[in-house]
Amino acid sequence: MKYDLHCHSNCSDGTLTPTELVGRAIEMGVQALAITDHDTINAYHHINPKESPQIKIIPGIEFSSCWGKMNVHIVGLNVQLDSDALKTGVAFQNTARQKRAVMIADKLDQLGFKGALAGTTAIANNGNIGRPHFAQYLVNIGAVSDINQAFKKFLGSGKPGDIKQFWANIPQVVQWIKEAGGTAVLAHPKKYQLTRIKLKHLLDEFIEAGGRGMEVISGRQDAAITKDLAGLCVEKKLLASCGSDFHQPGQAWAELGHIPELPKVCPPVWDYW
Ligand code: AMP
Ligand code: MN
Ligand code: MN
Ligand code: MN
Repeated sequence: MKYDLHCHSNCSDGTLTPTELVGRAIEMGVQALAITDHDTINAYHHINPKESPQIKIIPGIEFSSCWGKMNVHIVGLNVQLDSDALKTGVAFQNTARQKRAVMIADKLDQLGFKGALAGTTAIANNGNIGRPHFAQYLVNIGAVSDINQAFKKFLGSGKPGDIKQFWANIPQVVQWIKEAGGTAVLAHPKKYQLTRIKLKHLLDEFIEAGGRGMEVISGRQDAAITKDLAGLCVEKKLLASCGSDFHQPGQAWAELGHIPELPKVCPPVWDYW
């Protein structure tokens, strides 16, 4: 069974509609898919799993979270979409996202880019406003040449638009997921660029909070990284998850289903559902 347990639709910062996303996943040979939009489950209001019996849809979400001065992402998998705890979490994070959008727009305003909030809201098209939408706005007005430049200059780590403080902390996020009957999985552990000691510290706090899994596979990745993360997963007695983190077609390193297999040493998260 080919699983892809991490991807985005245009309900957050992906480009495909939820229906298109499911269709593409089927084309790519995915047999079990979790749509994990940033801080929203709206994608699930647009699809009917019964209409595509050839693929198993596993309800999911990718929550943003504060860990000290950093942000980390926690994927909730196999959640009950009608859970009150999940609704509470989504509402809290939506408010956080809106507050953050206002603050990012203020920062850009101070840098001379007026009207960023209205412009970016239009680009997000009723979806959750994220930094990629601000990036697209900056490209559209000619402030930068491409999305990458927008992150490098204005929105990425340490830049004015990188506002971190609004998200819920790890225990809170894990609690929402657990109360919704789901499994909390630490997303893309290598993305945080932590030292070994700090990464283990993060995993320990995550486990202490009730986190059960980690992504051993995130998109196309080197075998050495897979081996390393598999070792950590086993050492910390975590369940292993895998996902492409697909956002849009044309990014070969993050295509639906185009991911290495989980190493045999890791217990897959789906064995426990
Ligand atoms: P947000 O959830 O609004 O903080 O936005 C985070 C999202 O921005 C990530 O999930 C990526 O999709 C995207 N992103 C982060 N860094 C970059 C980058 N350097 N270039 C392009 N996209 C990025
Ligand atoms: Mn994203
Ligand atoms: Mn993420
Ligand atoms: Mn993601």
